[in-house]
Amino acid sequence: MLKYDLLPKQLLFEGTCSQENFFEPLLPNKNLVLKVHSKEYFNNLIELHLTKKEVRKIGFPLDHLLVEREQIIADGTIKACDYALEYGIAMNIAGGTHHAYSNRGEAFCLLNDQAIAARYLQNEKKAKKILIIDLDVHQGNGTAEIFQNDSSVYTFSMHGANNYPFKKEVSDLDIALEKGTSDKEYLDILAKVLPNLINSIKPDFIFYLCGVDILSTDKLGTLAVSHEGCKKRDEIVISTCAKHGIPIQCSMGGGYSPRIKDIINAHANTFRIAQEVFF
Ligand SMILES: [Zn+2]
Repeated sequence: MLKYDLLPKQLLFEGTCSQENFFEPLLPNKNLVLKVHSKEYFNNLIELHLTKKEVRKIGFPLDHLLVEREQIIADGTIKACDYALEYGIAMNIAGGTHHAYSNRGEAFCLLNDQAIAARYLQNEKKAKKILIIDLDVHQGNGTAEIFQNDSSVYTFSMHGANNYPFKKEVSDLDIALEKGTSDKEYLDILAKVLPNLINSIKPDFIFYLCGVDILSTDKLGTLAVSHEGCKKRDEIVISTCAKHGIPIQCSMGGGYSPRIKDIINAHANTFRIAQEVFF
């Protein structure tokens, strides 16, 4: 996708990031992937042996390069966790593949990057209690399914009630917003819910899925949040984590505004806010 090419360029161009702020992920350890995804699904995926029906659910034809790319994205989120532990915050310029279930892919998501990274942190004893804040306009259905019986990972999804997936899974906390929800209502809910959540769950690590498909300009999203509102959303999440001293990893998630400028600007805002708050 064009945005993955343009976003780093924009961040370098405007001076929000410098070249040494970037890292390059590789293929992740297969055993880590298997802590989230079933062996059968993962093997069928990498060998391109999924059924036609399974591929249809994913939404695009698979090839080895795409499957490798998805694994590298997951490694980006794993590595970003280590950088977040070191610096307080780190980002994956892609990721947020929250529609990937433990045993199947869905809606352009093959492997669930933040779920895999959460297992990495717990496996390495780098975190015990994890909070996933999913503010993409689409519900984090795969993430909800993966952690449905696991109290060590709390899943919070705030999304459009009328957006895909139409049959939603049950997260630990779901807030479904009506069509046309705009800045004030959106930000009021978030500002009220988030500190309470952090105080009651007491996470030692936070994942943030900061999709920009909540924008009013988005062609898939049903909400009506402005650019300022979307930036304020990032500020609320990032500054709340900073205030509580909890490391945070961000994956970009969706963004489908017709003008690429709107997508890049909104994603760049997440990086701009991170710089302001943390560095
Ligand atoms: Zn989305």
